[in-house]
Amino acid sequence: MDRDELRKNLDEGEPWGTGPFLALSWLAFVVLAVFLGLVFYLSSPRLFEISHILGYGVGGAFALTVLVLGGGLLLITLTSITGWDLLYPHGRIQITMRVLPPIVYLIGTSVFRLNKDKLRESFIAVSNALFYAQARKGRFSAKRLLILLPHCIQWHECPWKITWSIENCRKCGKCPLASLVDLHGHDGVYVYVATGGTVARRVVWESRPTMILAVACPRDLAEGIVDVYPIPAAGILLKRPNGPCFDTQLDLDKVYDFLRQFRPDVYEKMVASEEKFARQTGREPFNVPGK
Ligand code: SF4
Repeated sequence: MDRDELRKNLDEGEPWGTGPFLALSWLAFVVLAVFLGLVFYLSSPRLFEISHILGYGVGGAFALTVLVLGGGLLLITLTSITGWDLLYPHGRIQITMRVLPPIVYLIGTSVFRLNKDKLRESFIAVSNALFYAQARKGRFSAKRLLILLPHCIQWHECPWKITWSIENCRKCGKCPLASLVDLHGHDGVYVYVATGGTVARRVVWESRPTMILAVACPRDLAEGIVDVYPIPAAGILLKRPNGPCFDTQLDLDKVYDFLRQFRPDVYEKMVASEEKFARQTGREPFNVPGK
């Protein structure tokens, strides 16, 4: 497959929103509830024959499972749709969000023949909706903010090694890193470029962030958000105009918007730095939200 074909395959319209993931989650829940009901219906005569306590115990356990999962899913759905944080005091991004993705991917790909990456996009949309709903209520702290970037965002001919040390970037402007390098080390903001999941996990472990902004493709982002739980993480999808893992791009406006909401102090410094850089290089400054 040549690069144009790859790009066409990746470029399948706008990223999916929360709808498909939530719909399939409810479908999975209904299937599970019916299955448990059926198992209890078929086994209850025997269970009650052995002991009434056993019969009521198993029935109660099944009912409780359905109630907890259904309640969690209802809160997730309402929070995603309304943007109001209805998860408290149920937890941060609940355990339901760890359990659901594999089930949803399985049903979506095997029963409905849906594209797994599009389902991942939908999961990321739900996860982001929950993140922003809770963050707006001040439930998270951005005191130690980690911005995690993929290696493929670096211009493919760049001679500088920037994994682990983004400071090595010479800000030539050939890739989006030029606009992010100055963020690193700014009052608790850390920017790292990771070459894969193992390195990303190590970066997270070593920097001990209170909040993460991750940029990656749907697969890495969906897995990463689940991996770093319970650290609150927001995700931005990479743009892949040149095919996968090659000179990928990032919507910098989204990074600025994130900073404006959670680290306005750093945002102001970044805007000044971006405008200075644009003057030096003669290019237009990026469209900074709020300016
Ligand atoms: S902006 Fe930095 S990382 Fe990107 S190509 Fe230029 S020197 Fe390399």
